[in-house]
Amino acid sequence: MNLTNMSNNKTLLDRSLQSVWHPCTQMKQHETYPLIPIQRGDGVWLYDADGKQYLDAVSSWWVNLFGHNNLRIKDAIKQQLDTLEHVMLAGFTHEPVVALSEKLSALTGLGHAFYGSDGASATEIALKMSFHYWRNIGKTGKTRFISLQNSYHGETMGSLGVTDVAIFKDTYAPLLIQSAQVPSPDYRMAEAGESAQDFALRCAAQLEEYLAQHHVELAAFIIEPLVQCAAGMGMYHPVYLTKAREICSKYDVHLIADEIAVGFGRTGTMFACEQADIRPDFICLSKGITGGYLPLSTVLTTNDIYQAFYHDSTVRGFLHSHSYTGNPLACSAALATLEIFETDDVVYNNREKSARIMDKMQVLTDVPLQHLRHQGMIFAFDVVTGNTQFSKQCYQAGIEHGLLLRPIGNTVYFMPPYTITDTEIDFMISTTHGAVKASL
Ligand SMILES: *Cc1c(COP(=O)(O)O)cnc(C)c1O
Repeated sequence: MNLTNMSNNKTLLDRSLQSVWHPCTQMKQHETYPLIPIQRGDGVWLYDADGKQYLDAVSSWWVNLFGHNNLRIKDAIKQQLDTLEHVMLAGFTHEPVVALSEKLSALTGLGHAFYGSDGASATEIALKMSFHYWRNIGKTGKTRFISLQNSYHGETMGSLGVTDVAIFKDTYAPLLIQSAQVPSPDYRMAEAGESAQDFALRCAAQLEEYLAQHHVELAAFIIEPLVQCAAGMGMYHPVYLTKAREICSKYDVHLIADEIAVGFGRTGTMFACEQADIRPDFICLSKGITGGYLPLSTVLTTNDIYQAFYHDSTVRGFLHSHSYTGNPLACSAALATLEIFETDDVVYNNREKSARIMDKMQVLTDVPLQHLRHQGMIFAFDVVTGNTQFSKQCYQAGIEHGLLLRPIGNTVYFMPPYTITDTEIDFMISTTHGAVKASL
């Protein structure tokens, strides 16, 4: 390690602590846990200022699909940069946003794409559109939303209103729209001996009971299909989605699929809804959409919903906007990402990789754990320990040994870039093994 670097790092860390308010962080904790100054990334690796490398096992908060420094995505952005960096999307259009909307429409079966810049804004757009749709067709009493227990849909006020994670929500409760939560089919909560499918069906019956009683005032049910990621990778049987679709249709309540985390191949299909063979009324996409390169989100919806806004009256239109709506650079990164899916047959090839990772994870079973599970390219297990500092210590132990893990409570998970190699998988699992043992 060279001394110039060390003093540069120190300066950078100090400057960061002085000037940057970091997300999801009690800043005082950085007195104990130092920030890590990252200089560059390549493939699954992040390199800090001293050249120490970290395997990015969480795809930098679930956004990176094909590795850092991906040449194909980088080239697409560079090309776009030479023609048009940005133009407002009100009154104007451009090739990348049209091409991307056409592709996403073909993939989701939903024909109209509205754009935002991050996941929370996509959730808000879907909630507002659903509410506004019912108003436009004269059902002005449909104003409320429901979500699953332990759901996560983002942290702006609207999206936090349908989120059910106490640590993020409780402080702001007086500011938020009221929503109700229905029982989560996360099969960790099943009765002993109850199958994931039976548990999902039981939860669906409770959903139906709720809708039967409240549908008159309900606009939409927003759901994370197949995996409730922020809840600690809570996974559930697809039959819940099949039933939810039937029930929502029966009672005239929109189904909003929040595929912000699970879309783009994460669960083993391009979109998680495919595994239940359902079409939601709205789908929210973000995170992996640009391969982790640029902020972009979108909400796609049906022709029926679109048509309810199409009118001579201005205020019947959806008058929502963000400055960077449909940014051409972000759209070009998304198009390059979709092209990689096609040319590399990513969803198909991930199946074998997913099975291989799950197989290798069996070595972890000598630590006290529960619910070793996976869904596509998401892998998780819950560590049984009384150590209340488990997640912080495990994170720290991973970092020491060159692995970026970010346990959620006692849940340790991997959501690696799809490009991870066998050698890198071995490193990820063996380092995790050590980090967990050191933190029990
Ligand atoms: C991350 C996430 C969001 C919020 O996206 P941001 O880009 O962080 O605002 C919403 N829903 C789900 C399911 C997510 O995982």
